[in-house]
Amino acid sequence: SSLDYDREVQSVCPYCGVGCQLSFKIKDDKIAWVDGIDGPANENRLCVKGRFGFDYVRHPHRLTKPLIRRPDAPDKGLNVDPANPWTHFREATWDEALDAAAAGLAKLRGFFGGKAVAGFGSAKCSNEEAYLFQKLIRTGFGHNNVDHCTRLCHASSVAALMENVGSGAVTATFNEIENADCAIVIGCNPTENHPVAATYFKQFAKRGGKLIVMDPRAQALKRHASHMLQFRPGTDVAMLNAIMHVIVEEKLYDRNYVQGFTEGFFQLRDHLKDYAPEKMAPICGIEADVLRDVARTFANAKAGMIFWGMGISQHIHGTDNSRCLISLALLCGHVGRPGSGLHPLRGQNNVQGASDAGLIPMVLPDYQSVKEEGARELFRSIWQMEVNPEPGLTVVEIIDAIYRGEIKGMYILGENPAMSDPDVEHARKALAHLDHLVVQDIFLTETANFADVILPASAWPEKTGTVTNTNRQVQMGRKALNPPGDAREDWWIVVQMAKRLGLDWKYTHPSEVFKEMKMGMQSLRNISWGRLEEEGAVTYPSLSPEDPGQAVVFGDGFPRPGGRAKFTPARVTPPAEVPDQKFPMILTTGRQLEHWHTGSMTRRATVLDWAEPEANASLHPKTLRKLGVEPGEMIRIETRRGAIDIMARADRAVAEDMVFVPFAYVEAAANTLTNPQLDPYGKIPEFKFSACRVRKT
Ligand code: SF4
Repeated sequence: SSLDYDREVQSVCPYCGVGCQLSFKIKDDKIAWVDGIDGPANENRLCVKGRFGFDYVRHPHRLTKPLIRRPDAPDKGLNVDPANPWTHFREATWDEALDAAAAGLAKLRGFFGGKAVAGFGSAKCSNEEAYLFQKLIRTGFGHNNVDHCTRLCHASSVAALMENVGSGAVTATFNEIENADCAIVIGCNPTENHPVAATYFKQFAKRGGKLIVMDPRAQALKRHASHMLQFRPGTDVAMLNAIMHVIVEEKLYDRNYVQGFTEGFFQLRDHLKDYAPEKMAPICGIEADVLRDVARTFANAKAGMIFWGMGISQHIHGTDNSRCLISLALLCGHVGRPGSGLHPLRGQNNVQGASDAGLIPMVLPDYQSVKEEGARELFRSIWQMEVNPEPGLTVVEIIDAIYRGEIKGMYILGENPAMSDPDVEHARKALAHLDHLVVQDIFLTETANFADVILPASAWPEKTGTVTNTNRQVQMGRKALNPPGDAREDWWIVVQMAKRLGLDWKYTHPSEVFKEMKMGMQSLRNISWGRLEEEGAVTYPSLSPEDPGQAVVFGDGFPRPGGRAKFTPARVTPPAEVPDQKFPMILTTGRQLEHWHTGSMTRRATVLDWAEPEANASLHPKTLRKLGVEPGEMIRIETRRGAIDIMARADRAVAEDMVFVPFAYVEAAANTLTNPQLDPYGKIPEFKFSACRVRKT
């Protein structure tokens, strides 16, 4: 039958940060089908991506040989046909390709200094691969210009969490919602983007929990919500300050908790005086009575949680948005007890782990600042190499540094900035400017179109390594298949590059890398490779070799001076670009259930591509009527940065002055339109708000 299989291998889903554990059923060296298993985050559940999203692994577009750009190749960046790349590239042996890749970067290092080279790592690779990649850039080039897609995802949330609670990770697993009686879900659409987490949220509401959903777009969770606040885009701070104003004014806050565990309350109290709900209602578009009711509901709950996503973080005031959420939870004492906590839902499957492993320009593994002598000394002793004390450049800053001629070469592992960066034409021109670009990936991505050397890597089911999900659960991914052709595991490729760049690396297995990581990472205390092989997952912090890990943290204080968390007041700031006569509508971007990020995997997965085959933009039916557009017709969306033509879809969830575009479609790349203005703290671009105009084509 079609359910026959020869063997099964237990691993983790490579898509979203929920980190569902699954079993690959292998037949004839292919993934025949997939089933959920009893992981701590998913308890046998899977969504459509985890169940049906794997035949990309054997897609004919897979890179199976190293490629070197031909000297007479057409211009960099032109679309290369993955089935026939031969006018642009030629096949090479591994030795030849690795020599060329490393020699090009070493030449720039020799001539201009190590700062002329930067690296983008990947939140889709394992913890060990992320760790090796940041170590290679830091020790091979002597600086910290290494970043990854966390910068485009939750960098502002992490900045606010580090500042106010002293740790960037979640304070409670999402499964803790079963112990809560109230939960706020804001700036995220879990049914589409964290579907298995959403099943827990729905069960919570069915049991009578109060689910407060806040988002400028309506969503499927609305049906389960006690309150649905469809507020005006970009007015989060006004709305959240108004809610906190009520909590302080009506003395609903947890006085003992505020006195015992926090600092800065009086500054916050004074700041909130200006934010009465009656004053904020016209700004955020939510009636004052509703704001008051939400404040009372959340403050009076016995245990409350707050979940948030990119709708909070991807703004120039993303850090301020998160500061408000942290203050709201602290005011009510909803941190550190079962069923309470702060939980930014992580996007990529391993964005938590890659960040923990140090794939960030300002911090070493475990968020230890490169500026701190003690942290540098620790890694100097482990690596036997100096660590540069100057924080490196972030994703968008690296692109700008290429324009200034300061960065001349890049090594990009598994990221696709030619699709994922804001104002993507700007990013693509920068990539074309590079003197030497090495791309390591499984497909000839839009970014690989600019490469001088392409190194064929392994898909997730083709390797062994650990990943860390949104819940701080470190999980073991096990190799189920061999990579096709000459493709190799990413950790192996990074090691070969390091050796050619003059580093004395001797790793022969990812477990050796994990062992080294533990030397510099307190978070991995009591978590060994052996435990992960045996138990499949351990949550950090784990208090003993037997402890499966702590689902809730900070019950007895915070990793900050005096053990106290901090209130940081936030002021209302307008978006960087507000609608005007020329560009009267609001563009917002995001993901959709079937397609993952830039689509390189899911658009090559038969079932998912069948379900969502065409680029589409969602607008309210009334807006479509005003524009004279029927659903299914083509529209042109323009911003100050560019234009795309895309099919219109009617969607009542979208507000009347808005258009929503998923960013998975290369033929209508949403990031052609987006604004690269950055949040000053988290350095995250404002993907969620651009002024645009729309017309029928
Ligand atoms: Fe994979 Fe996320 Fe779906 Fe789970 S919820 S199966 S981790 S995409």
